[in-house]
Amino acid sequence: MSKKTVRDIAIKGKKVLIRVDFNVPLKDGEISDENRIVEALPTIKYVLEQGGRAIVFSHLGRVKDEADKASNSLKVVAKRLEEHLGQKVTFIPETRGTVLENAISALKDGEVLMFENTRFEDINGKKESKNDPELGKYWASLGDVFVNDAFGTAHRDAASNVGIASNIKQTVAGFLLEKEIKFIGGTLENPQRPFVAILGGAKVSDKIEVIKNLLKISDHVLIGGGMAYTFFKAMGYEIGTSLLEADKVELAKELLELANGKIILGEDVITAKAFDPESEKHVRAIDQIPSDEMGMDIGPRTISKFESYIQEAKTVVWNGPLGVFEFPRFAEGTRSVAYAITEIKDQATTIIGGGDSAAAVIQFGLADGFTHISTGGGASLEYLEGKVLPGIACVDDK
Ligand code: ADP
Ligand code: MG
Repeated sequence: MSKKTVRDIAIKGKKVLIRVDFNVPLKDGEISDENRIVEALPTIKYVLEQGGRAIVFSHLGRVKDEADKASNSLKVVAKRLEEHLGQKVTFIPETRGTVLENAISALKDGEVLMFENTRFEDINGKKESKNDPELGKYWASLGDVFVNDAFGTAHRDAASNVGIASNIKQTVAGFLLEKEIKFIGGTLENPQRPFVAILGGAKVSDKIEVIKNLLKISDHVLIGGGMAYTFFKAMGYEIGTSLLEADKVELAKELLELANGKIILGEDVITAKAFDPESEKHVRAIDQIPSDEMGMDIGPRTISKFESYIQEAKTVVWNGPLGVFEFPRFAEGTRSVAYAITEIKDQATTIIGGGDSAAAVIQFGLADGFTHISTGGGASLEYLEGKVLPGIACVDDK
């Protein structure tokens, strides 16, 4: 489904509400990673260049009571945005009221205003996070058009996305949201084949719906990471002290049956006696895992096997690290597979969804070798599950 974007509407002279994802990590009141601010710049700049009056807002962290406000203010973010834009950003430390309304009325074409953390409205009854109808309607009344560019919260019904959209004439996607729709949505809808899905991460239980959906639409599903051991158990192997979800063994059996050969598991693993970065590593065939060792990574034969599927692929969707990549000694599987994917960049669409998988690839310095690295953790997971995300559904169709 094709969605309208900020390019499809008249902007000049309009009060443009822009929902961005400025949920940056803060350490002692300082921004420790400004990536989300940098990524939101193209949409904001576009609106300003077109002569729009930008009203920018976001959530930040969780706000349960008054005490959470000080540590979750967007003031520092507004300052950083100002530096990046090279122009004044009027910051209003409110989420509603006459001060905000007057400041918006005073905005001129090409000027930008930011208001306070939308989740300050959660203190009295989760108005933002539970999409209180009055709040969405109020925020919608502050602007002429709505640009949603916050993919990270697109899987949630909030006043600041769905609430505004249902009370304003036009809702369009910003450039970031557009990219996610194009690459994740577009690929799942119409993948070039062979389509190889790679799934890893800690737990089967986190990824059941993703596995089911990708089994439906892909040609091969390669499984590694912690979740693989529940599958190995289901196949009758002894897995030592590896991560096991005993209550998911039956489900793993069902998935293997349902998969009809589509699920590809490893042949060997890297084990250790302890979950420790210094623990000695051993290569074990999958039917040779000692009772006092745990699987920490995929083994060399498994890497080759996965590489051979990747080399043929025209589409790769990857979610979940294949080992405990945070420990360098057990990062080899994840790194090798990441590298193999970068080698097919010219022939395939390659996508990563998932917070830790994205972090791994960025840490390896391989991010440029992928077609698309999704910016949302929970949102990308739900998108991969094949769900309709409310924050995308509320954008006008083309
Ligand atoms: P994503 O955020 O990409 O969706 P997950 O959150 O599902 O990924 O999983 C990431 C975590 O899985 C990482 O912290 C990694 O250490 C862990 N993991 C991967 N393989 C194993 C394993 N064999 N044993 C234990 N943990 C693992
Ligand atoms: Mg994760």
